[in-house]
Amino acid sequence: MADCIFCAIAAGEGNAKYAHRDDSVVAIEDINPAAPVHVLVIPKQHIEDARGVTDAELLSAMFRIAHQVADERGVSESGYRLVFNTGRDAGQSVNHVHLHVLGGRSMAWPPG
Ligand code: 5GP
Ligand code: ZN
Repeated sequence: MADCIFCAIAAGEGNAKYAHRDDSVVAIEDINPAAPVHVLVIPKQHIEDARGVTDAELLSAMFRIAHQVADERGVSESGYRLVFNTGRDAGQSVNHVHLHVLGGRSMAWPPG
């Protein structure tokens, strides 16, 4: 989709540090990290938000890469948080679905 920053990044055109790339998904370092580990798992296909992820294969690929990133970054044992901000009240700021992988520090609940 034109003018979508994550479409550009998924196509390899943005300014991003890639943690993973394959045919359906990329993972990048968040530009404004909220934790020592903050990676975004982004499908190459433009989908607005988590409600639009209806393909089981794509969803499982996103989770698989998220867990792989957690393993690679050494936070599998200490724990990590997976987040889909969906819509305005959740604070979604980029309307191309992405799964946040956050770890490397203890986190509060409920979120702010
Ligand atoms: P949201 O608020 O939509 O759940 O998350 C969007 C995330 O994307 C934010 O954590 C923000 O820092 C990150 N982000 C926004 N634009 C860019 C960018 O151009 N490059 C990278 N690497 N991250 C971005
Ligand atoms: Zn997009």
